[in-house]
Amino acid sequence: MRKTTWQFGNAIVAWQKIHGRHDLPWQNTQDPYAVWLSEIMLQQTQVVTVRDYFARFMQHFPTVKDLAKASQEEVMGLWSGLGYYSRARNLHRAAQDVMALHGGVFPRDALTLQTLPGIGRSTAAAVASLCFGEPIAILDANVKRVLTRYFGFGQDLAVAKNEKLLWEKGQTLLPTQHVAQAMPHYTQGMMDLGATLCTPKNPQCLQCPVKENCKAVKEGKPENYPVKTKKLKRTSEQLWLLYAQTKNDDVWLVQRPQSGIWAGLYCLPVFESYESLQAFIKTKSKLDLQDMPVVKHMLTHKDLYLHPVALRLKAQKSLGHGRWFDRPSIPNIGLPAPIRKLLG
Ligand code: SF4
Repeated sequence: MRKTTWQFGNAIVAWQKIHGRHDLPWQNTQDPYAVWLSEIMLQQTQVVTVRDYFARFMQHFPTVKDLAKASQEEVMGLWSGLGYYSRARNLHRAAQDVMALHGGVFPRDALTLQTLPGIGRSTAAAVASLCFGEPIAILDANVKRVLTRYFGFGQDLAVAKNEKLLWEKGQTLLPTQHVAQAMPHYTQGMMDLGATLCTPKNPQCLQCPVKENCKAVKEGKPENYPVKTKKLKRTSEQLWLLYAQTKNDDVWLVQRPQSGIWAGLYCLPVFESYESLQAFIKTKSKLDLQDMPVVKHMLTHKDLYLHPVALRLKAQKSLGHGRWFDRPSIPNIGLPAPIRKLLG
C-alpha cells in the first residue's frame, strides 16, 4: 500500500512537469493573492472565461490591499457576467479580513485560510499547497473525477460522509519525497489530469500516468464515475421586470437585497406579477406600458421566465427606491447576466 501511495504522487508530479498546463495566467506564481483569486473564479466558471476576468481584476486590483480598499460597486462591476455573485462579495470581505486581521499577509496554512469568507476546504488546500507547499489534498470537481475513478469509488459524493471518505483517501496519495517542492506540482497535476486526460467523456487513459493502478480502467468503464447524484427536480418561476427609460435612454435600476437571487447587484425592478408591476407605477392603462419578448434564463435548479415591460418617460422622475443610470455608466456596474443582455 505504501508503495502504491508513493508511486501515485510521484507519477503525478513527474507527469505535471512535462505534460501539465504551464501557460495559464495564474500559474508560474506563488503569490497567494493571484492563486486565491483564480481559484475562486474557477469554482463555477470555465478557464476560457476566467482568463479575461482574471486579467482585468489583476489590472484593477494588483494586490490584496487594492481589492480591500475598493468599493463593493467596483468589485461587483468587474465581476459582472461571471455569475454566482456571492463569490465576489466574499472575495471583497476576505481581502478586507486579510488586511484587518492578518496585517495584509495571507495565512500560509489551509486551516487558517479556511477562516476567511468564501474559502472552503478545497480552495484553502489549493492555496496552501500551490503557494506554500503544504502537504494537503484538494477535492474540486476535476479531482473528484480522477479519484473516484482511480479508487473505483462508487458512493454518492452529495452525501457528506462519502465526500469526507474520498478526501481521506486522496490524502493518502500525496507525494512523500521533497514534499514542499513537490506539492505545487502535485496539486496542479491533479487539476491538469482532470481537465485534460481524465475528462467527463472519453478519458484518454492510455496517456494517463496512473493508468496501471486505476480501478475504473480495470472495470472497463471510467465514465461510470463519479456516480450520479439523484437529480433535484427543476422548478420554474415567472418574473416581471419594469424597464423604465427616459427619452435620453437613462434607465431606472434598483439594488437587489443582500440575499436571494442576484443579491447585491443592480437590476430592473422585479415583480411577481404583471398586476403588481402596474400597481407600482399606479396605472391600469396598458397604453403606458409595452410588453417586450419573454427572456428565459436558466439557473442551477430553476428556469426563470423574465417578462420585461417597457415604460417610456419624458424626463427623469423618481420611481421610489433606486436611481437613474445613464447609458455610458451601465457597463461599469454589477448587473445580472440576463439584465445586462436585455439592456444591450
Ligand atoms: S486511467 Fe483513465 S480513468 Fe483512470 S485516472 Fe487516468 S484518465 Fe482517469
